[in-house]
Amino acid sequence: MRLTGKTAIVTGAGSGFGAGIARRFAAEGARVMVADINSGAAEAVAAEIGGIAQRVDVSMAESVAELATLAEHGLGGVDILVNNAGVTHAPAALEDVTEADFDRVFAVNCKSVYLTACALVPAMKARGAGAILNVASTAGLSPRPRLNWYNASKGWMVTATKAMAVELAPAGLRVNAICPVAGETPLLKSFLGEDTPEMRAKFLATIPIGRFSTPEDMGNAAVFLCSDEASMITGVALEVDGGRCI
Ligand code: ADP
Repeated sequence: MRLTGKTAIVTGAGSGFGAGIARRFAAEGARVMVADINSGAAEAVAAEIGGIAQRVDVSMAESVAELATLAEHGLGGVDILVNNAGVTHAPAALEDVTEADFDRVFAVNCKSVYLTACALVPAMKARGAGAILNVASTAGLSPRPRLNWYNASKGWMVTATKAMAVELAPAGLRVNAICPVAGETPLLKSFLGEDTPEMRAKFLATIPIGRFSTPEDMGNAAVFLCSDEASMITGVALEVDGGRCI
């Protein structure tokens, strides 16, 4: 029970990696706010783990501000913030990604980190201790073709993590990132291009450990980085990728 007595907000926790992180946090004793734009999905995960469901659009300032207010009341303050909600665009050549898709990817993956910082960091600083985890991607470290601007958004998250870490360390807040390799979540199709057995085998051949990642893998890494066991670790982007980026 490494998170007993801690409170956490996990964005995008209605599905995939975010749900895996929320489940592991709850299993380690944390009280979790399951925040997602899909309120039905958030409610299902929250019911399963005894958490609080909250609808949020992480790309909208008012929605994130409301989340912060509700978290302050519902959780009695926030010890851990996980910026996990994310989207990708359809795989395409650089110039074929639409401006609307570009804007959406940067709003949900990047602007959200700014918005949650504005809404939640002042109170976290006032508490004098806490952890923030940004869910980036191996795509941000070792970009592959056709997910170009998504890759760039995840690289932005890695740099934002370091910028936040160096600034917030004196306030007692640690900021880290995890960089997952693709898992068998709804996003997998975007990474594969086409979800066929051949494309899966080709992708798996690039992961030395030889399997896709799981939400539990991300939950385990997140528990460690957000627990006091990692109290000397800040500003890292931990690859949870079965060796893909070696
Ligand atoms: P992953 O493989 O990264 O876990 P998923 O698509 O399974 O990808 O999960 C991403 C989650 O983020 C989904 O539950 C989705 O509803 C959520 N999400 C997407 N956009 C937003 C947004 N603007 N605000 C909040 N949550 C969002």
